[in-house]
Amino acid sequence: MRKLVLFDIDGTILSTDGIGGRALYQAVEEVCHEKRMFGDNPTPKLGRVRMSGMMDTQIVHDILEGVLPEGTIQQLLPDIFHRIARLLREACEGSGAVRLLDGVQVLISAVADHEACLLGLLTGNNKGGAAAKLDVFNLNPFFQLGAFGDDARSRNALPAIAACRAFEQTGERFTGKDIVIIGDTPRDIECAHYAGGYAISVATGQYSREELAPYQPDALFDNLIDTQSVMRVILSTNDVQA
Ligand SMILES: [Mg+2]
Repeated sequence: MRKLVLFDIDGTILSTDGIGGRALYQAVEEVCHEKRMFGDNPTPKLGRVRMSGMMDTQIVHDILEGVLPEGTIQQLLPDIFHRIARLLREACEGSGAVRLLDGVQVLISAVADHEACLLGLLTGNNKGGAAAKLDVFNLNPFFQLGAFGDDARSRNALPAIAACRAFEQTGERFTGKDIVIIGDTPRDIECAHYAGGYAISVATGQYSREELAPYQPDALFDNLIDTQSVMRVILSTNDVQA
């Protein structure tokens, strides 16, 4: 049985030095302004929300909650996601602020090349935003599928969506510990547990090893530099742990 290996993006593959968050707020403001959501009045001051491990859909809802009706927010989402992707591409281009995390390029290649693995994404980024970030390092071709922040409001819904897409592409059914989720926040661990999958946690984002450990990931790494160790874990997720 092959492994469906699903990588998170921010804090796991790369860091954007705040570009992602700024693009999201700017997109919300621009789309609200262009659609004259507040008539001649300026857009009200938007509340700040914590974005780590969150889905773009939920973040936009949290920002606009109490400012616009629920149904209106829902209608604005496609335009906002489209704008986020455009702003990200502009901001990433030659800025140098987007940084590939150590060891990730080699690990992604190793997983993509391994016959026992199918490589995909599981990220809170909307699909266009994810592609914009990964394009900085020409990483998109490595990933055969993904589940994204515009697929659902809760991260816990994403493993099943990814498994469904994997089945459509390959005819293989990925279940339980054959679904491996690699991420940098407690939400990545929680969504792996929710799906009955295998959680590999990495402390290269905003959470330290000590902060991640209580969420009981199946494996916990300081970083993804030691390709062999991470590959060994990925390929043995069904083995009984000593
Ligand atoms: Mg992350």
